[in-house]
Amino acid sequence: MNTPKTSASTGSPRAVMPAQAGVPSGRSSAAAGAGYDSDRVFGWLNDVPDPEIPPISIIDLGIVRAAQVTDDGACHVTITPTYSGCPAMQVIGAAITEALHAHGVREVVLHTQLSPAWTTDWISETGKQKLRNYGIAPPAEQVIDTSRLGLGPAAAISRRAPPPRIACPHCGSTHTAVTSQFGSTPCKALYRCFDCREPFDYFKCH
Ligand SMILES: [Zn+2]
Repeated sequence: MNTPKTSASTGSPRAVMPAQAGVPSGRSSAAAGAGYDSDRVFGWLNDVPDPEIPPISIIDLGIVRAAQVTDDGACHVTITPTYSGCPAMQVIGAAITEALHAHGVREVVLHTQLSPAWTTDWISETGKQKLRNYGIAPPAEQVIDTSRLGLGPAAAISRRAPPPRIACPHCGSTHTAVTSQFGSTPCKALYRCFDCREPFDYFKCH
C-alpha cells in the first residue's frame, strides 16, 4: 500500500477542510490502482464553480464534505447543501459528476449529508477573498463563536453586540448601511456604501 502523499509538491490547490469538531475527515488513503486519490479529487473539484457565485468553487464554499476513492476507482463524494431544498444542488451534483468523468473517473457516487448543517463558517479564506473580488461582502462573523466560552456562562450565551460593520467590497469602507434584507438571493442582503456610493451584496451569516 502506498502512504498518502501530500500535494504540496504538485502545485495542485490545497483543499481546505474546515476544522469542525465532530466532522469526520473526508480523506481516505490513496486507493491502490485507481491512479488518483481523495486529495487529487479535491483538487479537481476545486475547479467546479458554484452555480450561483461562479468565481468561487464548491470547495471554497465548503459544501464538499468528503471524497473517497475505492479500490476499483469509484469516487464517492459527499456534499452538504447550503440550505435545505437548495435548487442548485442538482446542478452542483451534475457538475461534480461531469468534472470527475472528464478526469477519467468512471463511477461517481454522490451522497448528501444534511447534518451537521452547512454554515457560512465553512467558506474558506480563499473563498471569502474571491467573494470580495466579485463585489460581495463575505460573512463578517463566525456563526459558531467559541471566543466567549472562557468568560463564564453569561458571556458565553449572550448575543454578540453590536452588530458587525460590513466592509464595502469595492473600497473597504465600513461606512455602510443595509438597504434591504434580501439581495439577489435570499442568503444575501443588499447594502450601500456611503463613501464610494456603490450598492453591494452582503453574504449573510447562517
Ligand atoms: Zn465603498
